[in-house]
Amino acid sequence: MLFIVTHCLILYICSDFLNHKITKLKNMSVIAVGTMAFDAIETPFDKIDKIIGGSATYVAYAASHLVQPIMQISIVGEDFPASEMDELKRRGVKMEGVEIVPGKKSFFWSGKYHLDMNTRDTLITDLNVLADFNPVVPESYQQAEFLMLGNLAPAVQMNVINQMKTRPKLIVLDTMNFWMETALDDLKKALTMIDVLLINDSEARFLSGEFSLVKAAKKVMEMGPQYLIIKKGEHGALLFHKNHVFFAPALPLEDVFDPTGAGDAFAGGFIGHIARTRDVSFENMKTGIIVGSAMASFCVEKFGPQRLTEITKRDIDIRLAEFVQLVNFDIDLV
Ligand code: AMP
Repeated sequence: MLFIVTHCLILYICSDFLNHKITKLKNMSVIAVGTMAFDAIETPFDKIDKIIGGSATYVAYAASHLVQPIMQISIVGEDFPASEMDELKRRGVKMEGVEIVPGKKSFFWSGKYHLDMNTRDTLITDLNVLADFNPVVPESYQQAEFLMLGNLAPAVQMNVINQMKTRPKLIVLDTMNFWMETALDDLKKALTMIDVLLINDSEARFLSGEFSLVKAAKKVMEMGPQYLIIKKGEHGALLFHKNHVFFAPALPLEDVFDPTGAGDAFAGGFIGHIARTRDVSFENMKTGIIVGSAMASFCVEKFGPQRLTEITKRDIDIRLAEFVQLVNFDIDLV
């Protein structure tokens, strides 16, 4: 009996060790493409003139809690603080794919939130270095299996896909109304090259011309992506795949200070979870959108990406447990 127990224990340890080794050998790394920027933000309660922002910044901070390395592809001017780059590097974010342009300014975006904190107006978009962004995927990024295309011109997003020598296991694309209005043909082409599309409810309606989100989802998936995530701000997120749908709520928070970057933090949490588990099934994507919702809920608690830099693994675990509680109920069948 003792022999059997010992034998099983050894087998277990060996398989654990092997698993660990395999996990190390497998490539869980994520390429994150997007802006690294300065933002000016006005909410009904506060205002900040210059803060670090950008879609790839939020994605990297959120995803790096789950998986490393994150292989960043972006462009900044000489004004982007070296201290911010160092902080990201410290968190396992590789910067080889981030171009620093001497004598030029970083992308600048300014937005003002309405009283509901769910909707906002863009006040200023200064492309600056972004106007000439021609991303180059470094050789050292080529083995990455997960590609997160943050909000950018669809032509730039496609350029990155085309540079990948081996198609990543999962390609996720985030976009916004702006590109639907100004680069629809490019966006439609990009949609045929990806697996998961991330948009919000108004963007899904705009892109499909349908008011019903179920009809909108069908039409958008016919454009290419097998999976569609529709974010609904404080009302959670929907995941569609074929005829399946899954809903994840947003955590009801007492105070939302700044919703900027919530969508990108969601994307970072989602791709981080998928890459960490290396499982691209619909079932695992359900967990992915819960992890994404948790990262988004942290993001809105302070201005800019600051809260994402403060949280620990324990904070994330506690928050995930709160999400489970939020949707857990007993019911007797009638
Ligand atoms: P989110 O609140 O998730 O939509 O993301 C906000 C971030 O996206 C801000 O930090 C901005 O710097 C960045 N951003 C705003 N507009 C654009 C754009 N047109 N292209 C790329 N990034 C943008």
